[in-house]
Amino acid sequence: MTSKGSSEPAQQLAANTLAAFLAAPPPGTPPEVIEALGLIGGESGEPLPPRLFFAAVEQSPVAISITNADAIILYANAAFEALTGYTRAEVVGKNESLLSNNATPSTIYRQLWRTIKNKRTWTGTLVNRTKAGGDYLAELTISPVLDQQGEIRYFLGMHRDVTQLHELEGALRQQKARVETVLDAAPILVVLLDGDGRVLLDNRECKKLQAELQGSEPIDLLRAALRKQAGFDPLEAALNGHGFKDVEVSLEIPGAGGPRWFACSGTPGHELEPSARNFFGHNTAGELRLLLLANDITARRREIERAHLENLRARLAEQQLSHTMREALGAAIYQIQGPLNVIHAASQMIKGGSANLTVLSGTLEQISAAGQKALETLEAALPAQPREAGLVVNVNALLREVLELETDRLLAAGIVVDWQPAHVLPEFNGHRTQLRSMFKLLIDNAIQALNESGKTHRELRVTTRVVESAVEVVIQDNGPGIPAEQRYEVFEPFYSGWRHRRGRAGMGLALAQEIVNLHGGSIEIDPEYLDGCRVRLLLTAAIDE
Ligand code: FAD
Repeated sequence: MTSKGSSEPAQQLAANTLAAFLAAPPPGTPPEVIEALGLIGGESGEPLPPRLFFAAVEQSPVAISITNADAIILYANAAFEALTGYTRAEVVGKNESLLSNNATPSTIYRQLWRTIKNKRTWTGTLVNRTKAGGDYLAELTISPVLDQQGEIRYFLGMHRDVTQLHELEGALRQQKARVETVLDAAPILVVLLDGDGRVLLDNRECKKLQAELQGSEPIDLLRAALRKQAGFDPLEAALNGHGFKDVEVSLEIPGAGGPRWFACSGTPGHELEPSARNFFGHNTAGELRLLLLANDITARRREIERAHLENLRARLAEQQLSHTMREALGAAIYQIQGPLNVIHAASQMIKGGSANLTVLSGTLEQISAAGQKALETLEAALPAQPREAGLVVNVNALLREVLELETDRLLAAGIVVDWQPAHVLPEFNGHRTQLRSMFKLLIDNAIQALNESGKTHRELRVTTRVVESAVEVVIQDNGPGIPAEQRYEVFEPFYSGWRHRRGRAGMGLALAQEIVNLHGGSIEIDPEYLDGCRVRLLLTAAIDE
């Protein structure tokens, strides 16, 4: 059937077709289609006069077309013209296939035709092409319209452009995939909970922990740990609008060799349901959400515990050492008392004139033997030089530690510190404790020198840099400095040029020299620096002894 061959005028055709369709909608017709067309047909249920009905179809925002049983277009409304770019004169008498862009798989068409030929309504999405050649996604509903004998007389096609919707869905999917990729790559547990504690979104770290927990829900365990160990429930806190940050809790995980520690943070928020009812919902608060982050800090906790233990061990060793020294010194004092008594007796004898050479020589031998014994006791008590295993050393880190340690003293002395570390330093095998003691020693020297200088502007400059393959450290103060003729002497044991010598045995620079030698380096007082003292050190890897 073509429009030319049709005896019905277009208006009548459209009105009759729609009326016939509404009188007996084919099975599968979406209820909203029936409702929409029913509205066009009049609320009272009475069919509208054909002219009015046609006007309503004509003005419908949905592209409507009516074809014969072979999909030859008999009528198309204004929305169809607007969407496809074809005038109705151009499409009437043509197959609907003129809209196909050949990208829709033939299986879809076969399924479409099987459905409508079975007198059922088909709804699906096709890729269409406009007259201008632009592709668009058409969400199409085709309903057969039957004649009085129940045979297919017409097809009623209704379609709308859903390209934008599809693009939005695509963009949303892509955005979701991106968010998931980022979340999965994050090395911390991330989970989004609803107000009932249900997991709305979680990342790979969550699933990994769940596997380690042999299926138990990690979030339930973290919530329980927060309740028991930190005294609050994260969801309740969120309900009251409170977030929390870096709250540390532990979980016992089978086979993990000790507890696992997590630093938990929570951020409460509200999310609007994307339903139509919430379209204008600016006044509604939305559903409660809790974003929970849990960072596995087990390694850090274990490191702190290990350092704590080491510290304890060192303090015990120190106590032990001082105890042993006290015992040895006590014994030596006791032993030295003997020769002192003999010396006293001998001096009395000499004074009284009763001493003869034989007696004196015997007395001196006694003194010498007792003195020797006391000396041996003292030597035995001398602590062995602590042996420290060579470890990878970063001089910047050691200096920073020492400066931090000295902060209070530096502040108290009103010293301005100018710390200029090299951005990158090579690491080498060295003896950390000894290097640390050496840096402390040199900085203590600078503090004392500045205190003794009485200057008001006191400055300590510490710089590091790479010189060939060695690390150079310069510790410089603007104190009184060291006279050129003493720049070698100061490294001799027991040399001391301080005005206040209490607690300073004059061994500092001698020890520094020893530690530098152990690291295959050198230490010198810069003769060219005249505004104070500049100690220059060169350090390389520790030499194997
Ligand atoms: P065709 O050779 O037309 O058909 C491909 C396959 O469809 C065939 O192999 C066969 O399995 C089946 N088929 C085709 N015609 C019949 C028939 N008369 N009886 C039984 N099976 C048949 N297509 C679009 O691409 N875009 C549209 O917007 C669109 N709107 C339509 C609206 C209505 C009301 C109707 C009835 C059809 C509509 N069609 C639409 C389908 C269109 O008629 C074509 O079937 C389709 O475009 C494929 O065209 P083709 O030339 O690639 O292949």
